[in-house]
Amino acid sequence: MKASPVPKIAVWKFASCDGCQLSLLDCEDELLQLAELVHIANFLEASSRVESGPYDVSLVEGSITTEHDRERILEVRRQSKYLIAIGACATSGGIQALRNGASVEDFIRQVYAHPEYISTLRDSTPMSAHVSVDYELYGCPINKTQLLEVISALLQGRKPRVFSHSVCVDCKLRGTPCLTVTRGLTCLGPVTHAGCEALCPSYGRGCFGCYGPKESSNPSSLVSHLHEHLGVPFVELRRLLSSFTTQAAPFVEARKRFPPGT
Ligand code: SF4
Ligand code: SF4
Repeated sequence: MKASPVPKIAVWKFASCDGCQLSLLDCEDELLQLAELVHIANFLEASSRVESGPYDVSLVEGSITTEHDRERILEVRRQSKYLIAIGACATSGGIQALRNGASVEDFIRQVYAHPEYISTLRDSTPMSAHVSVDYELYGCPINKTQLLEVISALLQGRKPRVFSHSVCVDCKLRGTPCLTVTRGLTCLGPVTHAGCEALCPSYGRGCFGCYGPKESSNPSSLVSHLHEHLGVPFVELRRLLSSFTTQAAPFVEARKRFPPGT
């Protein structure tokens, strides 16, 4: 693929709430600087002007939930030198993946007045289930500073420097006392990828894992500990592991310890 003199960026939406694209718009001052270095050729959230590919970098938000999505992501991949999946929807199927393993027909009947108009795949799946992905950026929504770092790194031909430590480390860095140790609250901070600067614990609320599992984490062990030592009921632990990154493999594995009915 022939690269253009000024790198061309495209932003794509699949099944999603647009929150991750808004994180890019939320860059404000940095976005103006970025616009001087790259050519934003396709970003419907910001402009109706669309230029055709190929693109140097495609930022892809959302999950694959329809046959049309499946065809479209193949075309996006074909037109993109680098494809970056942004956010929990694109990296693990998002909250809409709560339907995976349940009856999608039941959901459609409950939600839509005219279910006959709905055409959907049984599961909501991440980009990586359909195409090769060059980088995955976690979060619901993503952290705008991490996003700028990933774009800069790709444009400079280097590896992105995105911290891979847990939310716990950020609690320590900002001086937030551990909610589990000091207040006995349930928190997924020890197994959740950093990126939010420990937002929820700083407001006295346990982390529910919206940045997804951190590399080499052991959610199964953490939830067993929470059950055995803090008496957290199975139903609450299942719910905790079934939110924005419900289909992330380590969370799926941990839920197997508490099958429905236990
Ligand atoms: S990851 Fe969260 S914020 Fe981003 S599009 Fe999906 S639901 Fe919205
Ligand atoms: S749920 Fe966890 S990862 Fe998500 S914003 Fe709250 S503390 Fe951060």
